[in-house]
Amino acid sequence: MKVLKFGGSSLANPARFRDVADISSHYAADTPVMLVLSAPQGVTNDLVALVSAAQQGGDWQAALDSLQARFEALIIDADPALPEYERHALLQAARDQVQVLADYAKGIALLQHCPDPVQARMLGTGEQFSVALMTASLKARGLDAGALDATRLVKSQGDYLNASADIPSTIAAFTERKAQGLPRISVMAGFVSGLPHGETALLGRNGSDYSAAIIAAGCKADVCEIWTDVDGVYSADPRQVKGARLIDALSYAEAMELSYFGAKVLHPKTIGPLAQAGIPCVIKNTLNPSAPGTRIGTDGGSDRVKGISSLEDLALLTLSGPGLKGVVGMASRTFAAMAREQVSVNLITQSSSEFSISFCIAESDLKRATAALQAEFELELQAALLDPLGIETDMAIVSLVGDGMRQSKGMAAKFFASLAQARVNVVAIAQGSSERSISAVIRSRHCADAIKVCHENFFTHVPSIDVFLVGCGVIGGELLDQFHRQKAFLAARQVKLCVYGIANSGSLLLDADGIDLSAWKTAMAASTQAFTREALVAFVQDNHLTNPVLIDCTSAQAVADQYVDYLAAGFHVVTPNKKANTGTMAYYRELRATAQSQRRRFLYETTVGAGLPVIDTLQGLFNAGDALLSFEGILSGTLSYVFGLLEEGVPLSEVTAQAKQLGYTETDPREDLSGMDVARKLLVIAREAGLVLDLSDVVIEPVLPAGFAEGLDVPAFMAELPKLDAAFAERAQQARERGEVLRYIGEISEGRCKVAIKALPVEHPLAKVKDGENALAIQTRYYQPIPFVLRGYGAGARVTAAGVFSDLMRTLGWQQGV
Ligand code: ADP
Ligand code: ASP
Ligand code: MG
Repeated sequence: MKVLKFGGSSLANPARFRDVADISSHYAADTPVMLVLSAPQGVTNDLVALVSAAQQGGDWQAALDSLQARFEALIIDADPALPEYERHALLQAARDQVQVLADYAKGIALLQHCPDPVQARMLGTGEQFSVALMTASLKARGLDAGALDATRLVKSQGDYLNASADIPSTIAAFTERKAQGLPRISVMAGFVSGLPHGETALLGRNGSDYSAAIIAAGCKADVCEIWTDVDGVYSADPRQVKGARLIDALSYAEAMELSYFGAKVLHPKTIGPLAQAGIPCVIKNTLNPSAPGTRIGTDGGSDRVKGISSLEDLALLTLSGPGLKGVVGMASRTFAAMAREQVSVNLITQSSSEFSISFCIAESDLKRATAALQAEFELELQAALLDPLGIETDMAIVSLVGDGMRQSKGMAAKFFASLAQARVNVVAIAQGSSERSISAVIRSRHCADAIKVCHENFFTHVPSIDVFLVGCGVIGGELLDQFHRQKAFLAARQVKLCVYGIANSGSLLLDADGIDLSAWKTAMAASTQAFTREALVAFVQDNHLTNPVLIDCTSAQAVADQYVDYLAAGFHVVTPNKKANTGTMAYYRELRATAQSQRRRFLYETTVGAGLPVIDTLQGLFNAGDALLSFEGILSGTLSYVFGLLEEGVPLSEVTAQAKQLGYTETDPREDLSGMDVARKLLVIAREAGLVLDLSDVVIEPVLPAGFAEGLDVPAFMAELPKLDAAFAERAQQARERGEVLRYIGEISEGRCKVAIKALPVEHPLAKVKDGENALAIQTRYYQPIPFVLRGYGAGARVTAAGVFSDLMRTLGWQQGV
C-alpha cells in the first residue's frame, strides 16, 4: 500500500481537487492507496478565527458565513463527473457541518471559553470536508474509493490539540479495519486522530503530514508520499531565498532536524514513525507530478551540508545566579516545570560554569512558562540565589543541517563568519550532539539577512555586491558603462553585481530588481525621489541587501561627511573623493574605527594617482614595518599635461584651454591651478605614512599668483589668463637655459608637506613625466637611496573608474575567505 498525503495547498480550489483525483487514480492502477487529506488551504485558519471570535465576543457569524461560502464554492465547481444528486447531498452535508459549528460557537460565546475537546472537533471540520468531497469525486469517476474514520484508525495519546502517535494501537486498529476489507482508494482525514477512549484529538497545526506518517507505520506502507506545492525539500525556504536548491535525498535524521528547526514543508514529528518502521518518504509536487521530488530514507547522499532553516517568534529565557552553581537538579526542575505546562523547548544552552541556563520557547508560551518558573523557583528568587528571570523576545533560531558536517572541519567557523558578514549578533549557540546541526539564536529582524548570507556561502557560492552610486558624471557614468560591459566577465567569476541605486545632487533612482544599465539615464531623468541617506538605508533594510556598497563619485564635502553614518548602517564605502580623507584628523580616525567595528571596508585607492596602485602599495610596505623617509611626485594629471607643454614653449593660456577642452581639468581650471588638489593627494599619502597633519599644514605654492583673476567667472578667468603667458614663458625659458624643466611637485620631507613649482634638472626622473602622466618616488627605510617609483596615467575617467571597480571587488575579499 502507498500512503499519499495532500496538503492544503494541493486542495486550495476545485482544479487542485481534480489534480489530486488524477494522481490518486493513476497510483490506484498499480497499488492500493491510502489518501490522507488536509483541509482546503486556509480553512483551518478560518476555523481558528471562528473559535477565537466566539470566545472573545467577536463576530463569529461572519467567520461562519465565509466558511460556508468557501465550502459551497468548492462543491459547486467540483469534478464535472459528480452527479447532481451527489452534489446536492454534499451541499447538504456541508450545511449540516456548518450548523454543528454554529451550535458550538453559540455555546462558546455564552461561556466565553472553548474546552479543548470541543475545539479539537471543530478544527478538524475542514479535513472532514475534504474527505467527503474527494471520496464522492473519485467514486463519480468509477473508482473503488471509500472514506475511513481517522479517529478510529490513527490512534494517539496526550493532549486534545497536540496529541502524539500511538503506533501499536494504530497497527491494531488498521489490522482490524483491513480484515473487514478496504476499498482500492481509502480516503482519510489528516490532522485528526483518536485518543484511547475514542475522543477526537488533533495532531498539532500542520499535523496532516504526521497523520500520514502514523498511518503509514500502521499499515506498513511501501512509501509515504507528502504532496505539496514545491518540487521537494530545498536548501532553504524557496519562498524566502531566491536560488534555493532542490535536495534529491535526505537521511531521516537530516529531514528531522530541518523540519524541527522550521522547514515548514514537513511537520517535525513526521519522520519519527517512518524512520522507526524504515518506510521511505518522498516529498512531491502536485503541480508538477513528474518531478522526482526529495527522497528521505536511511541514506541521505554525500553532500556535507543540506539545508538552512529558521524558526521565528521565539523567546529566550535565561536562568542565572549563584544558586545554580553545582546544585544538583536545577536543570531538571526547570525543564520539568516546562513539561508540566506543556511548553515545548526548542533549544538549550548552558554555560560551562553552570552559572546560567538559557533556552528557547515559542513566544506564545511565554506567559505560562514564566509563571511556571516563578512558581518553581519562588524561594530561590526571594533569597536572591537566582537573578530575576532573563527574558528576550522576538528571537529566532537559524540552523545549518547536514549529516556530513561531523566529518568536515570549519563548518561552524564558516557558519558564524557568515552571520558576522550579515552583521548579525549571535545571542546563543547550540550544536546538536550528533553534530548534524549547528544553531544560532539571533534577533528575528536579522533572520532573513542571516539566511541569505549563509545560503550564499554554503550553497550558491555567488557572492553579491549591492551597488549604490552617488554622482553619475564623467567617472560615475564611465563606471556604470564598465559594469554593463563586464556583465559576462562578472558572471564567469560568479559574482552577482547589481546596481540598485543611482543618485546625483538632485534625485535618486532606486530599483529593487536592479537598474537596467542600458537605460539608466532615461530612468534617472524620470525619477522624482530626492536623494537622502535615510532613503538608501531603508531600501537596503527592506530588500535585505547584505553587501551594500556606497560608491561616491562626487567631489562633494556633504557626501564625504556622511561616510561614517553609511559605514555604521552597514555599507562599504568606495570613493575617489578626497574630501573625507583630508578632513579633520578626528574624522579620519573615526572612519577607520567605524569601518573596523562594523566589519565594512572603506576603500579609496583612486584618491591618489587615479588607477595607479598607490594606497595599496603604501599600505603593503607600511604594514610590513617599512617607514616613509621622503616622498616626491607629480600627482596631478592636469598639471603634468600643462607643464609638459609649457616646456615645449606653448603659452600657459593656450595649454590651459587645451587641457580644459580635453576634459583634463575640473570645470573651473583654477581648482587644479590652485594646487589644492595636489595638496589633498599629498596629505592622503602623508597620513597613510602615519603623519598627523591637517590640510592647513601643507604649504602650497599655487601655479597662479595670489589673487589672480579673483571673483571672475570661468570664461572671464580664461580671458584674463594670457596676462600670465609672458611671465611663465620667461620662467620656462630660464629653466631651459639652466638645463632644467618646470614641474609641479608634491613633496614630503622630514614630516612636512609642500606643493610647489620646481625646476628640475632634465636628468631627474620626474623631469620625464608629462602628458598627463603621474609619477611617485617614495623613499623608505628599505627603498633608499634609490626610491620606489610608481608611474603611469594618473587621470582620466577610464582608469579612475577601473580603479573604483577594482576597489569594489575588494569588498568581497574577506568573504571569499569564509
Ligand atoms: P501543505 O499545504 O502542502 O502542507 P505547506 O505550506 O505546509 O504545504 O508547506 C510547503 C511550503 O513549505 C512551501 O511552499 C515552502 O514555502 C515552505 N518551505 C519552508 N522551508 C522549505 C524547504 N526547506 N523546502 C521546501 N519548502 C519549504
Ligand atoms: N489543516 C491543518 C492545519 O492547517 C493540518 C494540515 O494542513 O496539516 O494546520
Ligand atoms: Mg504542511
